[in-house]
Amino acid sequence: MASIVHLAIPTPLRQLFDYLTDKPASFWQSGMRVRVNFAGRSCIAIVIRASDVQSNEEGSKLKSIDEIIDAQPLLPEEVLQTVLWVSRYYHHPLGECLQTVLPKRLRKGDSSELQHEAWWFKNEDSDNKKTGEKQQAILSLLEDYPEGISQSAIKAQLGNVSTSLKSLQQQQRITQKPQAKLPIARTELNLPCALNSEQQQVVDEVWQSREQFQPFLLEGITGSGKTEAYIALSEKMLAAGRQVLILIPEIGLTGQFVERFKQRLNTSIVVLNSAISDGERKQGWLLAREGLGRIIIGTRSAVFTPLPEAGLIIIDEEHDSSYKQQDGLRYHARQVALIRAQKMGVPVLMGSATPSLESLYQVKQQRFRFLQLQQRATGASLPAVHLIDSQGAHPDHGLTEQLLKKMHQHLEAGNQVILFINRRGYAPVLMCHDCGWQAQCNHCDARMVVHKQRHILFCHHCGSIQRLPDKCPECESKQLKSYGAGTEKIEQHLQTLFPDTPVIRVDRDSTQRVNAFDKMVSEIRQGQARILVGTQMLAKGHDFHDVTLVGVLDTDQGLYSADFRATENLAQMITQVTGRAGRGAKEGEVLIQSEQPQHPFWRNLIREGYALTADKLLQERIEMGMPPASHWAVIRAEAKDRSLAMDFLGEVAGILGSQSQQTVMVMGPVPAIMEKKGGRYRAQLLLNSAERKPLHQLLDRCTDSISRHKLARKLRWSMDIDPIDLL
Ligand code: ADP
Ligand code: ZN
Ligand code: ZN
Repeated sequence: MASIVHLAIPTPLRQLFDYLTDKPASFWQSGMRVRVNFAGRSCIAIVIRASDVQSNEEGSKLKSIDEIIDAQPLLPEEVLQTVLWVSRYYHHPLGECLQTVLPKRLRKGDSSELQHEAWWFKNEDSDNKKTGEKQQAILSLLEDYPEGISQSAIKAQLGNVSTSLKSLQQQQRITQKPQAKLPIARTELNLPCALNSEQQQVVDEVWQSREQFQPFLLEGITGSGKTEAYIALSEKMLAAGRQVLILIPEIGLTGQFVERFKQRLNTSIVVLNSAISDGERKQGWLLAREGLGRIIIGTRSAVFTPLPEAGLIIIDEEHDSSYKQQDGLRYHARQVALIRAQKMGVPVLMGSATPSLESLYQVKQQRFRFLQLQQRATGASLPAVHLIDSQGAHPDHGLTEQLLKKMHQHLEAGNQVILFINRRGYAPVLMCHDCGWQAQCNHCDARMVVHKQRHILFCHHCGSIQRLPDKCPECESKQLKSYGAGTEKIEQHLQTLFPDTPVIRVDRDSTQRVNAFDKMVSEIRQGQARILVGTQMLAKGHDFHDVTLVGVLDTDQGLYSADFRATENLAQMITQVTGRAGRGAKEGEVLIQSEQPQHPFWRNLIREGYALTADKLLQERIEMGMPPASHWAVIRAEAKDRSLAMDFLGEVAGILGSQSQQTVMVMGPVPAIMEKKGGRYRAQLLLNSAERKPLHQLLDRCTDSISRHKLARKLRWSMDIDPIDLL
């Protein structure tokens, strides 16, 4: 009997599409892939459901599918259900959501077969016949690996071995079996360290909830041993036959973090981050799906990895903004993780030294359980923090005398120093001394940043590049001066100021090459670099034991930003950065340069710490009815034509307003703070509601009319639920 399949197809259209098939409905399972022709192109679609054709008439006008790709569903039911939830919650077309979830190769129609490789096993040897040198080496290596070893691993140790392997196989002294290719070679294991009582309590509490959905927020000061607690829990989960998914933020951390897990857990670890190839991503995803990958460590999109035997989801640095996707499907991985954990009935452990106000609010609402680690695990104390008035700072590089003096002291004592500045490049302003001309981006309402090494002007908002001019384009004067300092300028000055001390710069420019970041980290560890200048990248999670002084430059923008999250983010950044000092046996110290050292923000943060500061900020948000105490959605539009985005959003406001309801406030439209970006004029409309439900109901009712509005086709627009960036 024929049937009709209802397919999710990657298109902005918000509906399923029906195709005719000659298989009965019972053949189809949701989550299978098929190839179809859609709007003149061949594409991969996912089966959502199927129904039998009842009469000859029915379905006769439908197109047929071109190819069945999977005999079994590629997406497990639970993942598919999660994606359906994501599509509803984020008001994003289902077909596009599925695109985000699947690894590229699988999205393009690759088979879901795992890649295999040859593994070798030693046979029971009755006669210890003499063999050649190479063959003997292979035999003794296999002796060490009773559970087998891959041919590539043998090759890595012994060079080219294929003839010797063949010959040993012919003698029946070794056997070959293909096995699923695992992504990471195992290493020698380290012994676990005994957990302290705080850590033990964290592990016990989470472990006790292992059979149920239960979110935990773990607030653990920097260096308090959160990672050790994750490892201990993972170990218990593995022993109980469960998989563990560990989410980490997007910045450079993966290497060290994975290394620690590898050294402690004798299991197959799958890493899913932006550094791996499409082939590795597909293999890792499939290994997890088959239950062959036991520990899955990945960034944001790894939250969609299938986990047939899930026992626990861990989210490290849960406050990190990289968990929120900022384009396409604007999901938050923490939110998705909670939904999945709920469906799977497992606990979620969210750790941070600086928890987000969202999560702290959930603790207040008694939806998350609160756990704490209040001591540094190594016994080190948190560093002393001092504020310095930056009024008297050097006009070019921006460092104060006090900071330079401290640097000398700490370096002379044989220690390392970190300087943070959240601005890469050489200088943020290039200006003509004679006529006042400034280098502006042609496509954005923004200045071009000087990148001296590459000899360019670079727009950090749209990526446009110009050659660094040697004279003013307006008046031809040669008096071009750069103002302000970025990492590059500071690095250059430090090299002059400290001629005998190696300086290293860690930012997105210096770490672009593959492995560059890991290489720098090992240079820092070995003490080859003693002054480290970097952006936030350096602030995250690193454990450098010889760093005793941390300097923070140019933080004041955070105090005046129009973004309502700016102070929260500044408090998090300062606390994280502070945590980089004095992690080893030596005591640390932090100097913060500010133009506003008397600002109450500093007094609160330094005297009272992050927890109390966050609590105050949260109280303010609750009083003002702002997220997380209320629910926001933003509808954004951008167009090449100046007024179009505003016009369209005006229409959208009208559509929303036509629904009689009082609970959702519609504010705007207003032009974005940086109105022009990448050659497009941008505007936004803000929706605010005390309750989540009416907001979503309103969007449910209006999204169709909005997407079918005649202006919608002439511009780009998007919907952002729980936005975190309003600039
Ligand atoms: P966090 O993830 O909270 O920053 P880590 O797990 O990285 O903390 O631990 C910080 C340092 O303390 C690391 O060097 C780690 O090896 C060490 N450490 C963690 N737990 C213990 C423990 N129970 N005993 C001794 N050292 C520990
Ligand atoms: Zn000029
Ligand atoms: Zn630009």
